[in-house]
Amino acid sequence: MGRSPVPFGADRTDPAPDPSPRADLRRARSCARPAGRRPAARRALLAAVAAALLVASTAAAGGYALRTVQPGDTLGGIATAYAVPVDAIREANDVRGITLHPGDTLRIPLGEATGGVATPAPEPPPGFDRHVLQAGETISGVIERYGVSLDALVGANPDLSSLDRLPVGVELLIPPGEGLLVTWRTGLDLASVLGEHGADPADVLRANAIHAPADLQPGMLLWLPDVEPSAALERLAKVRERENRYVWPVHGRITSYFGRRNLGMGTSNFHRGIDVAAPTGTPIVAARAGTVSFAGWSGSYGYLVKVRHAGGDETWYAHQSQILVSVGEWVEQNELLGRVGSTGLSTGPHIHFEIRRGGSALDPLGELN
Ligand SMILES: [Zn+2]
Repeated sequence: MGRSPVPFGADRTDPAPDPSPRADLRRARSCARPAGRRPAARRALLAAVAAALLVASTAAAGGYALRTVQPGDTLGGIATAYAVPVDAIREANDVRGITLHPGDTLRIPLGEATGGVATPAPEPPPGFDRHVLQAGETISGVIERYGVSLDALVGANPDLSSLDRLPVGVELLIPPGEGLLVTWRTGLDLASVLGEHGADPADVLRANAIHAPADLQPGMLLWLPDVEPSAALERLAKVRERENRYVWPVHGRITSYFGRRNLGMGTSNFHRGIDVAAPTGTPIVAARAGTVSFAGWSGSYGYLVKVRHAGGDETWYAHQSQILVSVGEWVEQNELLGRVGSTGLSTGPHIHFEIRRGGSALDPLGELN
């Protein structure tokens, strides 16, 4: 809590004495949470429920299937796909409205199935492992653990919605090597599928322990060894680019840039972020999706929020008048974090914004779109 004479990250003015940080904090904390906060809380709850149920659902037959909500999914569509009543899914997940959020994990109560197409996930070909993503695990951790390449993992899971934002409980197939896994459908012709991907027929039959095209059943997973999953890799690279983009947390005039600045009287310091002036109370939004890693008072930074992003980058939002998130909370890009203020070492209402990579601050203007 102590203030150093030339604190980094702080602005070049004398600290206006803070009447009472604690009182401010209480005010910030007790302030009514806007309606927009609910989905995040619900997502966290769903993830926790999904994790807790995973053991139960694999142990007890006929329990729950876990389903990651994809963009464009509807409750009705999912209910039809699993032949489960909409209300049963609502009850199992505490979903009150009809809005689903991509990335949410839904429990599908299979015991409620009305018959029909509630098919379990098909068995992968011989030599595959399964891995259920645990809290805190990343794709890079998984590929390291199993000694497979990212291409191989994508080839075995070509329908992944993201590489960096997979919910806890997602099941990943771990392949025995490089290749592409395709789901066999009625109407497909083996010769043309193999031709399209340049796969060797003898290799494919051997890898899938089948003897003839007649052994292929609709819904079956077919492994094409040594085929590059180029379409999936391309799609996931675009998803990653979109997810890793930074947007401005506040729009306004830049009053101080990143880098060394002269403080007068022969002194200087290094400004580790940019300052953007905006009226007190202006909403501050997350520059990118991530998990809140700090929310509270931090000396010269005043009321500070830090958000940790996939890949390890962190964004810092300082001098807030109100903090509207708590540590551990997942925030989407553009989701409200707090409000502009002038707390800490600051002369007037503005946000001090930093992007940290590997612990060091970098120039946000090089990252912001
Ligand atoms: Zn600043």
